[in-house]
Amino acid sequence: MKISIDPSSGFCFGVVSAIERAEKILSAVGTTLYCLGDIVHNSEEVSRLKKIGLDVVDHARFKEMHNATVLIRAHGEPPETYITAKKNNITLIDATCPIVLSLQRRIKKGYERMLEQGGQVIIYGKDGHAEVVGLNGQIDNGARVVTSIDDLKNINFNIPTMLFSQTTMSMDTYRAIALEVEKRCKKEGGSLEVIDSICRSMSTRAEKLADFAKSNDAIIFVSDKKSSNGQYLYGICKENNKNTFFITSSKEINHKYFSKFDKVGICGATSTPRWLMEEIAEIFKSKFT
Ligand code: SF4
Repeated sequence: MKISIDPSSGFCFGVVSAIERAEKILSAVGTTLYCLGDIVHNSEEVSRLKKIGLDVVDHARFKEMHNATVLIRAHGEPPETYITAKKNNITLIDATCPIVLSLQRRIKKGYERMLEQGGQVIIYGKDGHAEVVGLNGQIDNGARVVTSIDDLKNINFNIPTMLFSQTTMSMDTYRAIALEVEKRCKKEGGSLEVIDSICRSMSTRAEKLADFAKSNDAIIFVSDKKSSNGQYLYGICKENNKNTFFITSSKEINHKYFSKFDKVGICGATSTPRWLMEEIAEIFKSKFT
């Protein structure tokens, strides 16, 4: 059996940079570092970091903290988080991805312009996702959040509209939503500005992953169930290779099933650690090669 790992799978640079910053701080003896929310949507990686001392806190606990050091993950945070930190003498290690940071600035400027023109801002993203909370927080939660064309039903398009996307969403769905909004704006008398805000590290990955899925007999897709990017990329693999299996850890592999395949590919989401895919590849090698 030939076993290979997709070279384009694994953490994006935003997540790598946040984890490296956490590891560097934690390497100093006696340091306590808190992280506001899971640093990455992967429980295997989160538990590895917890073992070396990272303490994950939620927003409710964060509000009660004082005189601590807290890391902000790549997804970014709304302005309230920075206000709370200042008030409570919390030192922030801001690992917001530079791409997300620049999108936060763009949405803020865009919203101010829309307000002047009596317009609106729409975000294509997952309601409640940390990045969306951070983006909408820049504009006093003034944006409508949509995840599908269906969600556009109750929105009026007779005014100027700016459309943004969460960085990790599907490019195809974003295009379809943009086309629908354009149609509605033309019909109802509004205007539309579409902001190209899907991260390229995501959009190019989908294409590469489709090729990788086609070139193998079976695919093991490794991801946490709560990763939206994982669900999306798993769908791409499944579309291109019906023998695609979703697992969260090496414990879920059904070895018997895979003995009939000659070429097995291992891949994952932007939140899947490389070490986890390598661990799974080693297990396969020890069983089948
Ligand atoms: S997916 Fe892109 S925008 Fe999002 S954290 Fe990673 S590099 Fe940054």
